[in-house]
Amino acid sequence: MSLTRSQLLAATVATALVPTLACAQDRQPTLPPPSITEYQPRSTLVVPEHSVPRAKFPVVDLHGHPGNLSSAATIERVMTAMDELNIQVMVQAMPSSGERLTSQIEAVRAAGYADRFVFFASLDFGNVGPGSGARIAAQLEEDVRAGAVGIGEIQKSFGLTNRKADGTRLQLDDPELDVVWETAGRLGIPVFIHTGDPAEFFEPLDYNNERWLEMALFPNRQFNDRSRFPTFDDLMAERDRLIAKHPNTTWVLAHMGWHTQDLGRLGEIFDRHPNVHAEVGAILYDLGRQPRFAREFFERYADRILFGKDSFRPEEYPYYWRVFETADEYFDYYRDYHAFWKLYGMDLPDDVLRQLYYGNALRIIPRMPTNGFPG
Ligand SMILES: [Zn+2]
Repeated sequence: MSLTRSQLLAATVATALVPTLACAQDRQPTLPPPSITEYQPRSTLVVPEHSVPRAKFPVVDLHGHPGNLSSAATIERVMTAMDELNIQVMVQAMPSSGERLTSQIEAVRAAGYADRFVFFASLDFGNVGPGSGARIAAQLEEDVRAGAVGIGEIQKSFGLTNRKADGTRLQLDDPELDVVWETAGRLGIPVFIHTGDPAEFFEPLDYNNERWLEMALFPNRQFNDRSRFPTFDDLMAERDRLIAKHPNTTWVLAHMGWHTQDLGRLGEIFDRHPNVHAEVGAILYDLGRQPRFAREFFERYADRILFGKDSFRPEEYPYYWRVFETADEYFDYYRDYHAFWKLYGMDLPDDVLRQLYYGNALRIIPRMPTNGFPG
């Protein structure tokens, strides 16, 4: 007997599901089961809850994407949210260079908020070929003279999709760019770099993949096509070679280097490279499911981890304050496709919070405004 294509598919799916359904003496639901998006059980757990609308200490948001700050209306809107959340300084980490950078710096000054925003410069990785490194480094020097105090956020396209003039993938440790990273080191500015994405995005999209729903909702987050993308480990090895090549440059790994599902791996990078720091944007779901181990990690590497939020949605920041500052248990995260689990508070001690929220940023970013921070 030959199977039709749909029978074959059903058989494959059934086989794939056997290990996860082999509970309850192999019983199957007696009602049609809900789909993954329909099943939204409401927690009946009653435990102490602490909402934290404002951070306990003034914050530097290293990973700001507030939109273009050249309009007074945008600046006012962002400032209102910052004041409510206790964000003292926001780093503009959207791609800005040349005129796009200077117009924002001028607008912020004109609005009287020069001590509330600082600016990182972006790098143009288009068509890199011989001579590109010197050109990019010269633009960087110009942007720093205009007021930029760091580089970034370097987007994930660097390493994934940026192509060289000869059509090959631009590798993170391409020697043509060495002069750029050395220039950053000489200028004493940090390089804020986003490399790759969660490791699951590089794995097959099967029913064992923790990010199945997100990858299915956002097909452009699938990097598992080996003909187009490197593996997660190859990409991170490239990044690690880049870091090792430039020990006098200060690196800040966005999203904690996407190693939050394996903090020990990030710890090894910290141990090997004293010039590496990490930022916590958009990985709260991972910290909140390992509050005890994450707390130990944050205590051990308190001088290496910086606060950053990524997408600018004011209502999402309090989830971060709650995870960092409280010992609350089993509460919701703000996006169900990042995590289908609940969060727990890390209850960080004050000295760790201070370094995370502002101390490390004031130390590694040059010319930071110090107004509004505890002396
Ligand atoms: Zn970002």
